[in-house]
Amino acid sequence: MNFEAARKLMVEEQLIPRGINDEKVLNAFLKVERYRFIPEELQASAYADYPLPIGEGQTISQPYIVALMTQALKLNGSEKVLEIGTGSGYQAAILSQLAKEVYSIERFPVLVKGAQGVLAGYNNIHTKIGDGTLGWPEEAPFDAIIITAASPKIPLPLTAQLKEEGRLILPLGDSFTQMLTLFKNKNGNLESADICPCVFVPLVGKYGYNKEI
Ligand code: SAH
Repeated sequence: MNFEAARKLMVEEQLIPRGINDEKVLNAFLKVERYRFIPEELQASAYADYPLPIGEGQTISQPYIVALMTQALKLNGSEKVLEIGTGSGYQAAILSQLAKEVYSIERFPVLVKGAQGVLAGYNNIHTKIGDGTLGWPEEAPFDAIIITAASPKIPLPLTAQLKEEGRLILPLGDSFTQMLTLFKNKNGNLESADICPCVFVPLVGKYGYNKEI
């Protein structure tokens, strides 16, 4: 399988026609080798237009959703970004091309370990095992926060870890369906904008869902 050609087709057929037009975002998707973040037996589908299982009942999102969330953050390269839900590490790798430093938290040790292996060559990504709903207070505040798991509300500690003018994006809703929602911190108030309906695995933690659904 020619992964490079598949990556180019993914950008041309799945991202550009749906409105992903930020050149830097498109370049990140051309560069990051998505297949390396996918379990070996599924690598033939690495560039397909749907999510894939990554173990522990979790999934790597469809490329378009990763792109949509990334583009919404409007990164210029100077930012410190927090990701909740490292999963495969793919979203973190994309962010690392567009921001200065990426901090990413994952609750399953085995997934963090896998992601760390694939991300070994990326020197601006920092990962840790833990409950991401608590944020990463030692590294706060962040210019942008991206939550890649569904939550009924914004985890409270994260609001205090977002800079003035900072952006936070998450799938907000119940366990069946959510609204991808972008928040901007304006003078301490979070202004929200709906992006599109979506379906993510649940955010399980102290300030998310309290159990696997
Ligand atoms: N961003 C990932 C996709 C993640 S799927 C990627 O690019 O592959 C959502 C991930 O969030 C899962 O791996 C899940 O284990 C993790 N997660 C759920 N609740 C969490 C929490 N409270 N803290 C950290 N990670 C959490």
